[in-house]
Amino acid sequence: MTTDHAAGTALLLDEVGPRPRRQTRPVMVGRVQVGGGAPVSVQSMCTTDTADVDTTVAQIHRLEAAGCEIIRVSCLNEPQARAIAAIKRRISIPVVADIHFEHRHALMAVDGGVDCIRLNPGTVKDTRKIREVVQACKAANVPIRIGVNEGSLPPLSGDEEMPEGLTAGLAGEWLVRRMVRAGLEEIKLLEQEGFYDIKISLKAFDVYAMIEANRRMAALIPYPLHLGVTEAGTPKPGSIRSAIGIGALLMEGIGDTIRTSLSGDPVEEVETCYEILRATNIRQRGPTLVACPSCGRAQIDLIGLANTVQERLKGMDKQLKIAVMGCVVNGPGEARDADIGIAGGGKGKGVIFKHGQIFRTLDEGDMLQVLMEEIEKL
Ligand code: SF4
Repeated sequence: MTTDHAAGTALLLDEVGPRPRRQTRPVMVGRVQVGGGAPVSVQSMCTTDTADVDTTVAQIHRLEAAGCEIIRVSCLNEPQARAIAAIKRRISIPVVADIHFEHRHALMAVDGGVDCIRLNPGTVKDTRKIREVVQACKAANVPIRIGVNEGSLPPLSGDEEMPEGLTAGLAGEWLVRRMVRAGLEEIKLLEQEGFYDIKISLKAFDVYAMIEANRRMAALIPYPLHLGVTEAGTPKPGSIRSAIGIGALLMEGIGDTIRTSLSGDPVEEVETCYEILRATNIRQRGPTLVACPSCGRAQIDLIGLANTVQERLKGMDKQLKIAVMGCVVNGPGEARDADIGIAGGGKGKGVIFKHGQIFRTLDEGDMLQVLMEEIEKL
């Protein structure tokens, strides 16, 4: 390669390097800073009846153990709104009250010490009532997330009806414009009240619309963005849909806090969020498992071993890279930068390797136990 070629390659690498994170205004949700250079935080939402304080607190404790940093609860009625004070006394992560239709529930939640209010411009539309909530939040130093959702967009002048005969792509573009407009109009209303502790989310099931709406909003406002693909589905397809939407934006430096919306145990939402942050190199929490897909060369039960190791690593907070590989031919080499790994080493045999070097050979039946013991020692 000539010097000129080398210079050209260096230039290219500069161009494709990681995008800088978007600069945003910091917003404090209780003790968790969102935006302003803070780590991208992980959120979830309780599936319990908020008025059932014991059950809600138990679910929040499970979510907190999984790494949830901000929790949202529904405020469907007065008993739910009133329960927030009791819930707050028994948990340590900040609570967001999810408000729809009845603005008085937001006022009750603020009285109960809630850390953030989520307002949906499509379900609380009366500007007088919105201003009342904003003034209560301002007096109590409580931020507001403007939660725009594809499924509950407010009527907007001029473009209420989707034009007939739009193809999927054009329908996505129509949705993008409506979501961005709905968000901007609500931001304007809050700013008119002298209120700037704002986060905003623009969620759609359509991944194109979700990505594009957030891109456009990011270019227009200084406020932090909460990312999510709404109603993404059951855990497997929902995780993939969420990873594409949230991951694409994170890779562009956009996004300050994330939630995946999965039809399942909310603990899975938190785990999925961390996998997205891990895959995008935004944040690491706990060990990373590298595992090969197995092939005809493997002479051990690689797939069973990898899944068991993944399960055993849950809850561990060590920042390790662990490899589980089917054979020694590619094992140590493919996981050269792993801290520790294991690979099949012939029929019914395995080897432990550290930093790409073989450390110990053993029988397949002992592989799991020895690997976990060695991980503990690290
Ligand atoms: S590490 Fe070995 S068993 Fe696994 S995919 Fe590669 S060649 Fe196949």
